[in-house]
Amino acid sequence: MPEFALIERLARAIPSRGPGVDLGIGDDAAVLAPEPGKRLAISSDTLNEGVHFLPGADPEALGHKALAVNLSDLAAMGAEPRWALLNLTLPEADADWLDAFARGFAGLATAHELALVGGDTTQGPLSLTVTVLGSLPAQGGLTRSGAGAGDRVFVSGTLGDAAYALGRRQAGVGDSAADLSGTDAALDRPSPRLALGQGLLRHATACIDVSDGLLADLGHVARASGLSAELELASLPGSETLLALPETQRWDLQLCGGDDYELCFTAPPERREAILALGEQLGLPLTEIGFMAATDGAASGAGGEATPAGHGLEPGGNVRCRRPDGSDYTPARPAWEHFSRPGLSGP
Ligand SMILES: [Mg+2]
Repeated sequence: MPEFALIERLARAIPSRGPGVDLGIGDDAAVLAPEPGKRLAISSDTLNEGVHFLPGADPEALGHKALAVNLSDLAAMGAEPRWALLNLTLPEADADWLDAFARGFAGLATAHELALVGGDTTQGPLSLTVTVLGSLPAQGGLTRSGAGAGDRVFVSGTLGDAAYALGRRQAGVGDSAADLSGTDAALDRPSPRLALGQGLLRHATACIDVSDGLLADLGHVARASGLSAELELASLPGSETLLALPETQRWDLQLCGGDDYELCFTAPPERREAILALGEQLGLPLTEIGFMAATDGAASGAGGEATPAGHGLEPGGNVRCRRPDGSDYTPARPAWEHFSRPGLSGP
């Protein structure tokens, strides 16, 4: 299939017109008209076969996920998605693969009224790069650096399902009738928390999406805010499947697993009621899991020298994890981490 036919096929399957698209796919560049008085938030993420997803992965799930991981970054900023660019590197132009990929991408794009306005296609090892542009109010927005001492830490949804599903897949354990948890959906079809991010513009002091694991990502917030964080392990929200695991296995998946694409955010204690009400309104559980504290050397905990390599925490990173009995807990790497691990992409 020649490149122009491939691009036409994608442009037919994925919404490519929408508000603010003065010129979309088909010219040398797209011409976009941002809303007057708004700012643009831009984020880009690459998924490589064998690094971020397993060879032979379902193309429809890939189409969804390539866009979802990018939209999750916009969600973390409180931005409203508008436009996307797609750069596809394919070993061969397989029409069935392409149609399935486009279906997955289009489903999520349509749900969030996002238009595909350009990109590029090349031949090579399978690699998917999506760039998303979103709209932000003229003032405000969510960043990693705004948390204050005493702020509470919240997380949306549940944690650890995607890492659990990945471990099973890598170990060659298929779905069983006993597994009704939908952990595979968490891995293949993450739901970017866009409505939550936009709602949090009114309440949160800092926000990040959980892509590399709660410990690493909350560590980014703590460091950017010049604070430490303390997590109550007993509070970590989990699916029924996760809650049935031995607690250290569950904690390790929830703290270090990654690929959750939930939002972790901070807010002053007096915003708690409003935040829980927002969660009810969105039908999305929001759970308070800890608090931010001034860095005084006392809270070295899991981010200190005892931290296993690869958490993304620099020495002196500062997230302390408390067991239900009050003692400190430092996670071990989950047993299947010696396999190549999807979810190591940047923020
Ligand atoms: Mg991110």
